[in-house]
Amino acid sequence: MVGAGWAGLAAAVHACEGGCRVTLFDMAPQPGGRARSVVLPAGGTLDNGQHILIGAYRETLALMSRVGIDIDSLLLRLPLELRYPDGRGLKVAAGPPLIGFALGVLTARGWAPSARVRFLRTAWRWWRNGMRNPGVATVSELCVGLPERVQAELIEPLCVAAMNTPAHEACATVFLRILADALFGAPGGSDLLLPRAGLSELLPRRAVQWLEQRGATIVFAKRVLAFEAAADGRLLVDGESFDSVVLACPAGEAARLVRSIEPRWSAQAGALRHEPIATVYLRRPGPVLSLPMLALRTGRDNPAQFVFDLEVLGPSSATLAFVVSGAGPWLADGLDALVQRVRSQALRELPTQFGGELPTVLHASAERRATFACTPGLQRPSMEVGPGIFAAGDYVEGPYPATLEGAVRSGLQAARRVLQTAA
Ligand SMILES: Cc1cc2nc3c(=O)[nH]c(=O)nc-3n(C[C@H](O)[C@H](O)[C@H](O)COP(=O)(O)OP(=O)(O)OC[C@H]3O[C@@H](n4cnc5c(N)ncnc54)[C@H](O)[C@@H]3O)c2cc1C
Repeated sequence: MVGAGWAGLAAAVHACEGGCRVTLFDMAPQPGGRARSVVLPAGGTLDNGQHILIGAYRETLALMSRVGIDIDSLLLRLPLELRYPDGRGLKVAAGPPLIGFALGVLTARGWAPSARVRFLRTAWRWWRNGMRNPGVATVSELCVGLPERVQAELIEPLCVAAMNTPAHEACATVFLRILADALFGAPGGSDLLLPRAGLSELLPRRAVQWLEQRGATIVFAKRVLAFEAAADGRLLVDGESFDSVVLACPAGEAARLVRSIEPRWSAQAGALRHEPIATVYLRRPGPVLSLPMLALRTGRDNPAQFVFDLEVLGPSSATLAFVVSGAGPWLADGLDALVQRVRSQALRELPTQFGGELPTVLHASAERRATFACTPGLQRPSMEVGPGIFAAGDYVEGPYPATLEGAVRSGLQAARRVLQTAA
């Protein structure tokens, strides 16, 4: 396996359970890839970006259990609630998903009765259509006719949170699929699962221990540079010979590794466009937030869509994490400019939490290639790269946008193919 992100770890655990002798390489000194904790230069740890999971992440939760993680102690489960600092917004009620959603809409604070009814009618139409075949390309087109407030306070934040792509560019088909799984799927699918510990504790560290206890070889700080198919059908990873290889590194790196042996696959993977996400961690001298996560109003000078209270959640005291998904337009002026905007936005929206003073920055990070841009008609590279070579990663063809669940599912799928070829 090349890459010990969530996809590579899922693939390694499944292959190991299936009886394979697994070797896992990662160029970083630790596992987790884009979803890991980082040690700050000034001491302490924070995540390389605030993450949320949802109840519909079935395979991710099952994988965490398989490696011995106590999910309830590491994830705070809450009914989906998109609440703004002024109390407006919506909470999905407990119980059967359709009823919980309808009740949530009917009791949403700040929406006119006519807006609630129009939204319910539209959602009913989507549901009757099987949450498929939207007949339009983008999420904005899908939502034409919905009241502006519903679009701004619900659709836009959900879309950018789930797909990291703004509604006017995001694929309507994928959006409907996410809604189908989360809002209208199994009970609890829409629940928010908020990390109570650093991301490395959620899966990466424990998965590595689990693998090592079962004899897997794990090599960190080793960037795989060369990959060749040998004449005897085996595969050479920097000269070391293997029966099959799972490329669980990001699309661009997988494309580089197979450029000469699988040029068509390489061209497709290399052509994916990416979207950045920035996270700004600010010290909160005042009281904790009313909820662990709040939605924020966005605009030119208000880049962040969500804020998380890491003290309420557990990992860090007096710290708020502001998340800017689809951060491209704000990063065009540089990370510093984005941070200054977030500080001003934070003070405007949460004056009590910051005691009326511009907040102090604890840490800011921008992951330029956080996820692929989930746009209409996108052809994603397949898991089958070539004989004995499989790709795993959040970008590989599959039902989900770039998410932990997409990465884990694709890792499991690649490992199943490795086991089939070995049989
Ligand atoms: C800031 C941010 C916020 C996010 N928020 C959410 C969220 O709230 N919910 C959610 O579900 N998803 C979220 N995501 C997406 C999620 O993090 C990713 O979808 C997931 O982590 C991708 O996992 P992966 O294993 O496919 O790839 P990666 O995590 O990129 O793993 C690839 C691994 O390959 C290694 N590697 C690369 N090249 C080589 C090489 N040549 N040799 C050896 N090793 C190599 C890398 O070091 C890395 O460890 C977020 C992402 C970011 C960046």
